[in-house]
Amino acid sequence: MNEVKKPRQPLMFYYLLALAALVLFNSFLAPLLFSPRVTEVDYSEFIRMTEEKKIAEVMVEENQILFSDADGALYKTGLMDDPELTQRLYASGAKFSSQIVEEMSPILSFLISWALPILIFVGLGQYLSKKMVEKAGGGAGSMMFGMGKSNAKVYVKSTSGIKFDDVAGEDEAKEILSEIVDFLHNPKKYEQIGAKMPKGALLVGPPGTGKTLLAKAVAGEANVPFFSISGSEFVEMFVGMGAAKVRDLFKQANEKAPCIVFIDEVDAIGGKRDGRIGGNDEREQTLNQLLTEMDGFDSSKGVVILAATNRPESLDPALLRPGRFDRRVPVELPDLQGREAILRVHAKNVQTQDNIDYGAVARAASGASGAELANIVNEAALRAVRDGRRLVTQADLEESVEVIIAGYQKKNRVMSDKEKMVVAYHEIGHALVAAKQSHSAPVHKITIIPRTSGALGYTMQVEEGEHFLLTKEELENKIATFTGGRAAEALIFKQITTGASNDIEQATRLARAMITRYGMSDEFGMVAMEQLTNQYLGGDTTLACSAETASRIDEVVRNLISAQYHKAYDILHENLPQLHALAKYLYEHETITGDEFMDILNKTPPQLTE
Ligand code: ADP
Ligand code: MG
Ligand code: ZN
Repeated sequence: MNEVKKPRQPLMFYYLLALAALVLFNSFLAPLLFSPRVTEVDYSEFIRMTEEKKIAEVMVEENQILFSDADGALYKTGLMDDPELTQRLYASGAKFSSQIVEEMSPILSFLISWALPILIFVGLGQYLSKKMVEKAGGGAGSMMFGMGKSNAKVYVKSTSGIKFDDVAGEDEAKEILSEIVDFLHNPKKYEQIGAKMPKGALLVGPPGTGKTLLAKAVAGEANVPFFSISGSEFVEMFVGMGAAKVRDLFKQANEKAPCIVFIDEVDAIGGKRDGRIGGNDEREQTLNQLLTEMDGFDSSKGVVILAATNRPESLDPALLRPGRFDRRVPVELPDLQGREAILRVHAKNVQTQDNIDYGAVARAASGASGAELANIVNEAALRAVRDGRRLVTQADLEESVEVIIAGYQKKNRVMSDKEKMVVAYHEIGHALVAAKQSHSAPVHKITIIPRTSGALGYTMQVEEGEHFLLTKEELENKIATFTGGRAAEALIFKQITTGASNDIEQATRLARAMITRYGMSDEFGMVAMEQLTNQYLGGDTTLACSAETASRIDEVVRNLISAQYHKAYDILHENLPQLHALAKYLYEHETITGDEFMDILNKTPPQLTE
């Protein structure tokens, strides 16, 4: 697909450029171009020429003598203290004149030095803006320098377009969208029975799950023109500009029907209109225009509007009512199968060894979005190049999963021995608590190589299959695992460090969710006390309960985490020999795999009870 981008510079930039060029032109170029050539000669040459009577006209100025010969060529020489000068010139028959060089008439000189450059620049500007408009895919009249034009880029029909095959997983979304494609291919079938096509479909889901990609794929499959514009491109400095762009976009789309209009990140203009004083007039006008346009056109003509957002709850309800974006297409994070499929799609473009186990990579990359998976494949390829290999290996892929999760290895960060020891015990603490509880995901790998993300080490647990429900016990075990690092520090070194901050955060979030959203406490029961507001972007929550309840929740959360911490501490205390043996191994090798871990764990003799 050929995406045509329109270069846009602020207007001010052009004016400054023109001014600079004008000054340059007048001070350097104009004198060169328009003044006649004057040859400088020395005084003896001047005298010789007077004697030979070669001088036609002469003009004595304050500090130089200008003269011309019979052919009209101009010369000049410096003025000397020469008392016989006048006499000599008179004798040579030269004509004394007051103006040798024909000066340009003032009007002409004004025209050449000021008017002409301005004309050239205006002409150039017109030409450029015309070109931009043509590229932007429409011939409609534009305001000066293309202001107020829609920036919709037309994706030209092309056989190399993105197809549904390029989007792995997301089968439900593809199914819904293929109906739209079918409609664009033969609208008759739908007309006959009296079915109307939905005017718009809204793709919602977390970032990087392929919403933009899916919209492009719809256009590629339908093989119709594709207008793509980002919601933020409607947002202009002046009130009314955005609305003008919306009008323009729909006008162009109607001319090109059947076609697809895709508004990416629609929340930039489609946010809820609220009655706040000092609200955003421009944005509301733009939204109103969009609503009007969506009502105004006839979907049987074949204009389908797709939009994407990762904040559906912030959209204005008027946008979502039937007749506007009435189809909602969820584009969720890929499941295990989806992840594997996405890895395979992207691995097609790189040279890999034959025996890659994509399933294992997909399992390790649990929770990764499509964009992250694409990135993982690319990182693996880069790693292969860095090592001077021609094929990507399984190890490359697994290492790049870690890079995406935890950042690059910091090669030159030196931890002191003492710190390294603390980190080793901390990580083994997590892993050992996980291993000694039932229903915990097995340990896959532990490393204590510092990462660019700031992590000094981490423990990677990989689920065997996929999990959709978590029991209360599993959640509690997770919290215990999070606290295991700190417990090990306290148990072994009798002092605690800052290394557990991330663990504490995660444990707290989980514990709060158990109580306020999952109804897993005896005290509060099944009452929702927190609401998820931004489910696709990190999942912020807002508390919806009285202040007393809130403080009581805090107490229950504290008790829950504290109980799990003590459980973890006891587990580590009971398995002290294993903890020492594993931490020693990790300290020496910096990395330990799941198999090595289980091996040492099972071989170390249990503690002798006194
Ligand atoms: P968003 O949902 O934020 O719009 P994009 O569609 O821009 O995400 O996806 C970004 C990139 O991630 C795509 O260009 C593609 O390389 C990759 N990607 C995401 N989802 C998928 C998928 N389901 N199949 C293949 N590639 C995907
Ligand atoms: Mg996108
Ligand atoms: Zn930790």
